[in-house]
Amino acid sequence: MSICQLCLKDLELRNSHIIPEFLHKKLYNNKGHLAAINGQGNKGYKPLQQGLREYLFCECCEQHFNEYCEKPFQTQWINANPNSLPDP
Ligand SMILES: [Zn+2]
Repeated sequence: MSICQLCLKDLELRNSHIIPEFLHKKLYNNKGHLAAINGQGNKGYKPLQQGLREYLFCECCEQHFNEYCEKPFQTQWINANPNSLPDP
């Protein structure tokens, strides 16, 4: 149990995406990896098999955030304008 960063209740937390998966799906290579830059110059990257995650929200808040933030963002921004995400 930990403190949910949205409702501030002490609950079991979900391992939440920091950035929605749909925003970087075009960045995966044919091995299913993407490069994460760690800001340590030209040698500072490591391959990841999924986007960054943290234990931030309880299940209820995770669902709320997904329904009222991520889904509308995906619908109104990404799906409405597929050219908004450049190809790698
Ligand atoms: Zn919560």
